[in-house]
Amino acid sequence: MIITFLTIPGILPYSGLDYNCKAPYYETQELRGGKVAFKLSMYPWIHQAHFDGKYWEEEYLERPHHTLEEEASMSDEEHTALVDSRNRLPHLPIVSYSTQYGLSCFEGLKAFPQPDGSLKLFRPDRNCARMAASMKGLRMPPIDEELLLNAMKETVRRNAVIGFTPEYNPAWESNFWQNGDAVYIRPFSYSEGGIGVNLSYRPWVITVCTTVSQYFTPGANNAITSKRIRATPNGIGWIKTSANYAISILAKAEAIDDGYMEAIFLDAAKQRYIEEGSSSNFFALFPGGRLVTPMMKDTILPGVTRESIITIAGEMGLDVKEDDLRVDDVLNNAEECFVTGTAAGVTPLSSLTHSGRKQEFSSLKEDSISIHLLKVLKGIQYGAVEDKHNWMLEV
Ligand SMILES: *Cc1c(COP(=O)(O)O)cnc(C)c1O
Repeated sequence: MIITFLTIPGILPYSGLDYNCKAPYYETQELRGGKVAFKLSMYPWIHQAHFDGKYWEEEYLERPHHTLEEEASMSDEEHTALVDSRNRLPHLPIVSYSTQYGLSCFEGLKAFPQPDGSLKLFRPDRNCARMAASMKGLRMPPIDEELLLNAMKETVRRNAVIGFTPEYNPAWESNFWQNGDAVYIRPFSYSEGGIGVNLSYRPWVITVCTTVSQYFTPGANNAITSKRIRATPNGIGWIKTSANYAISILAKAEAIDDGYMEAIFLDAAKQRYIEEGSSSNFFALFPGGRLVTPMMKDTILPGVTRESIITIAGEMGLDVKEDDLRVDDVLNNAEECFVTGTAAGVTPLSSLTHSGRKQEFSSLKEDSISIHLLKVLKGIQYGAVEDKHNWMLEV
């Protein structure tokens, strides 16, 4: 029997939705958001760990590829077909607690090409610890941190051996590596197949790599507070889970629609305190060198970049505080603001708009503290600044 009532014109349910805007809407979003940096082209080698109920079983998978020269000489069509096949993992169940209910967590970190030709990961131990914590937070068996650390290193190494890796380019130095390339490493959990609403007891953790460059479009670094609530007390805001991202994506798309680069989330209860950017942590610099970032709580994602900037800024002699951060205080008194994250690096904000009021900051000036912090962080990552804390791990 063919059920046709859904397609009879005139009684289409949800007719308030404009189905016709689809393609053009997404295209303009992508263009205006400038997020082409994340166009997916997975490297051939991936790592897979699977929890069999007792142990983590691991395996490296070599996905279809040719040599780089051969791939470069393929027609666009052929190459797209090859990349499409690499981007797919057909052995994973399509209906799972991850795809249906957002029960999935992930990590994002980078391996940076060095001037001497080597590749170094930035603080991968912190990402392993957070991945295990996120999995525990979602009541999955947590990944073995050492296993994941080795997997990330070895996956990057195997891909580099077959030529899949960006090369250091000294031209990046002229704007403090802001448009430098890196290997983006994305480990993510994926649940067993299932359609009932349930916890995941036998998850996979898959680690894939791809090249990335700049995340934000340079130039208009303006931000606006969002009316949406990213995270609530006693919720899952501190977990790096897919489930948190629908709201972030909407808030950022709305900010872009209104001509801004980034959305800033306020606290759920009062909409008075700054919490985070759309996928980045927030800092404000006040007179006297007081640098404030919202203190850790269950609505804040514990960013590795946030943690690193707290250390770097403290060593620079800034008075770093993790505290409540009133949006009014930022608008009235802050000299500079920036957001941090693996993708964002340190991204200085030129202005913040809240309740119709736009406040400009000097964050983007050549001699600003924000730019200085950006230079030190990127300098450590690209091998130009001494790595005092042994944050970099060679693959
Ligand atoms: C990943 C993430 C960050 C940044 O964390 P880093 O470890 O610095 O990359 C900030 N906020 C949210 C919501 C995130 O998911």
